[in-house]
Amino acid sequence: MKYVISTLGCKVNQYETQAMELLLQERGHQSAEPGESADAVIVNTCAVTAESGRKSRQMIRRLGEENPDAVIGVCGCYSQLSPEEARQSGAKIVFGTGDHKGFIAALERAVLSGGEEKEIDDPFRRTEYEQLPAGAVAGRTRALLKIQDGCVNFCTYCIIPYTRGRLRSLPIKAAEEETARIAAEGYRELVLTGIEIASYGVDLPGKPGLTDVVCAIAAKCGGMRIRLGSLEPTVITEEFCRRLAETGKVCRHFHLSLQSGCDRTLKAMNRKYDTEEFLKKTRLLRQYFPGCGITCDLIAGFPGETEEDFTSTLAFIRECAFSDMHIFPYSRRPGTPADRMPGQCTHAVKARRAAEAQKICTEMHKMFLEQSIGKTLPVLFETEENGMCTGHSDTYVLVSVPGTGLRNQVINVRITEICGEGLKGEMER
Ligand code: SF4
Repeated sequence: MKYVISTLGCKVNQYETQAMELLLQERGHQSAEPGESADAVIVNTCAVTAESGRKSRQMIRRLGEENPDAVIGVCGCYSQLSPEEARQSGAKIVFGTGDHKGFIAALERAVLSGGEEKEIDDPFRRTEYEQLPAGAVAGRTRALLKIQDGCVNFCTYCIIPYTRGRLRSLPIKAAEEETARIAAEGYRELVLTGIEIASYGVDLPGKPGLTDVVCAIAAKCGGMRIRLGSLEPTVITEEFCRRLAETGKVCRHFHLSLQSGCDRTLKAMNRKYDTEEFLKKTRLLRQYFPGCGITCDLIAGFPGETEEDFTSTLAFIRECAFSDMHIFPYSRRPGTPADRMPGQCTHAVKARRAAEAQKICTEMHKMFLEQSIGKTLPVLFETEENGMCTGHSDTYVLVSVPGTGLRNQVINVRITEICGEGLKGEMER
């Protein structure tokens, strides 16, 4: 069959989409060319905010209209949470965040003989990790490997624990095998993803931690470098930094989930650290990975956040000297405790605070770029256009050099100047 696939949301969803594409291709199915009519449409949905849910419904409808003869199948966090709404948007096959293999099989059945299927389990009853193939569909330079699923942190703004369920981890041996297989395919970077990778291993015999699995993966990753997905700051310890640095394989870029730089707000969010601890973690990372880029997520305008609270957040983000930030105005998510909290900020307040944080972020990003001038950064080249090749440095900055034919190579680049949001340099051979 010919399929069209669309993904909303985070890197875990991207990974699961890639894995489904690999499964589809293994079973002889092909991606429909632009303009070609598809037999099946897959929408891998997201529920992280109410807006993500709206976009998921919109995508289901739009792809349904564009492919009127196709069977529409949906999976992911939104359909896990609101299967009936997904069905009303036009989906015939409705699955959630578990059993992707079963989802593909149901889709095949529906394309062959019609019918509708809905399979939504209780994610809190899942005990097995659904192992899917790692990798990337043809044409990409970096591969994704999901090592963990589920979250039981119950941050008050987040719906994800209700869509992904309890903690499950990919066993270390399986992670090693997948890594060796991907390395042999010639990828140059492996991105480790999960819903909450800091909790890796709590469900496994002997309770290995994130450090153990990353070191095991590093030993099998051949010519690939390793990039870590979003981290809870609590996982960063001296041992974590020392052992990861010793592998020589881990990219000098760490994305930390900060969310607020005000202790009162962090408490209301049910985050498990305070600003003092967070700052210590950034210092440890910089000690063991000199010159590393540290990025973060921040929510502006959380319920109850006062002007004073937000002013402390702004001062704190300056102190952390992030290389970049993902800033989100707080978005109400029905079903979460924060949605029921008093002191909801107006849209205008959230937008203004997000813009203020963004202004500081832009200054800090520029500072980080300036600090890179004159330094040599290893760059994985991904694209080529008009005689310039571009890719990401290990510190996660876009770097361009004059040249051709560099795609999928990691080359040391001496940085000469800032170029837009990124850097420009010359190859060191
Ligand atoms: S750690 Fe918090 S924000 Fe992240 S998935 Fe779990 S509950 Fe959501």
